[in-house]
Amino acid sequence: MFNSSHTNYKTFIKAVNNDETSCLEAVNHYLVEIERNKDLNIFLEVFDKDAKDQAVEIDQKIKQNNAGKLAGMVIAIKDNICYKNHKVSAASKIIENFESLYSSTVVKKLLEEDAIIIGRTNCDEFAMGSSNENSAFGKVLNPINNKMSTGGSSGGSAAAVAANLCNVSLGSDTGGSIRQPASFCGIVGLKPTYGRVSRYGLLAYGSSFDQIGPFSKSCSDAAKVLEVIAGNDKHDSTSSKKAVEEYTNINAEKKYKIAVPKEYLESEGLNPQVKTHFNQYLQKLKEEGHTIKEVSFPFLELMVPSYYVLTTAEASSNLSRYSGVIYGNRSSDAKEVATTFSKSRAEGFGPEVKRRIMLGTFVLSAGYYDAYYAQAQKVRRLIQDKTDAILKDSDLIFTLTTPDTAFESESINDPITMYLQDIFTVHANLAGNPAISIPATDLVNDMPFGLQVMTGHFEEDELFNFSQHLCNIGLAKG
Ligand code: GLN
Repeated sequence: MFNSSHTNYKTFIKAVNNDETSCLEAVNHYLVEIERNKDLNIFLEVFDKDAKDQAVEIDQKIKQNNAGKLAGMVIAIKDNICYKNHKVSAASKIIENFESLYSSTVVKKLLEEDAIIIGRTNCDEFAMGSSNENSAFGKVLNPINNKMSTGGSSGGSAAAVAANLCNVSLGSDTGGSIRQPASFCGIVGLKPTYGRVSRYGLLAYGSSFDQIGPFSKSCSDAAKVLEVIAGNDKHDSTSSKKAVEEYTNINAEKKYKIAVPKEYLESEGLNPQVKTHFNQYLQKLKEEGHTIKEVSFPFLELMVPSYYVLTTAEASSNLSRYSGVIYGNRSSDAKEVATTFSKSRAEGFGPEVKRRIMLGTFVLSAGYYDAYYAQAQKVRRLIQDKTDAILKDSDLIFTLTTPDTAFESESINDPITMYLQDIFTVHANLAGNPAISIPATDLVNDMPFGLQVMTGHFEEDELFNFSQHLCNIGLAKG
């Protein structure tokens, strides 16, 4: 029989091997739970039949001792990740009924290792947002407190894990869309180094920022999934040829040199209670023999503006394909080429996506290119250089993931305030470094908050080691 302890993958797979439960029982359990939690609006579609078929097949393989590394791990995918012959809509009306003709590299790799894909999760339209309220199919409710936002844009994926509707889920992170919802929902969320995971089959938002990564309850499950999805891919020229390490060999013994940028802690919107906890954690780390180094990162205020100039520019180009010609809804009022484009796009896209396409088109336009786009590129370089310089002297950068715990749903209605929510997360995307959010043990007003760890490029192993150490000494859960 499947029981609640089996939502932990390690416990589950042991139980399957001892014939105490099966993959099919697990899938049936999650399907019931998904149905029971329907009002949270987490899943846009559940692949019940496929998931059951897969489970039967994998149960067989386990019996024959030839199942893959992720045998029976039940995984939900964000609705911007392609899975052959399944719908992928980016939570947008413009491609609401689009069916993918091929599988993304991550899905292929998961299936090859016998993971089970249970469904596609709600998100902000085209991954643009920090609250999940930009989905064309309604917001997701935070399972911890339904009045609160899950964060975004991968709010459905975060909530699915937090509500125990799957073992693990995949999200995408362009400016924090894995780490911020992980922080708001009290789970682990990892954005790998840019180039560590193939973007083939991820609907593009900001191509020089986007990365796919896992949400999980534990560092070890995130490591397990990363080990499978990472690696070079001939379909993505920006994927790295660097060998994939064995992330699951977590070794939490080392004494670290930890950089703490003072500007983060002096940030205006920082919740004083969250700050007090964070300072206590630094004290504890010192007592454990680690070195805490206060550093200066003078670009904090420039990060959100440069991020939004660069990502909207990339988005305006990436989203031009949804024109009603090859992809996307075609307006019934379309008469010729111009109205096919304008009417189809006007009907299909939501307000935030339109705002960003216009902003991106503006910053790339001939008269303004140098003032905005080129300038933001220069700032990006300064941010990258400064981050490298800090990480030359330290092993990692340790901050909070967000300045506060989850905000109330629909409490933020101006775009700039919403953009400023990303102040601590966009750093890793601008610089390309890997970063993880793990839930602090303490709560503030009964809500969780995340601790963010960033390491040098392709040092995900250290990210896991240090995160596990935070858990071992009681500062974080995971
Ligand atoms: N909130 C950020 C944005 O709206 C990040 C989104 C993301 O990482 N996909 O751009």
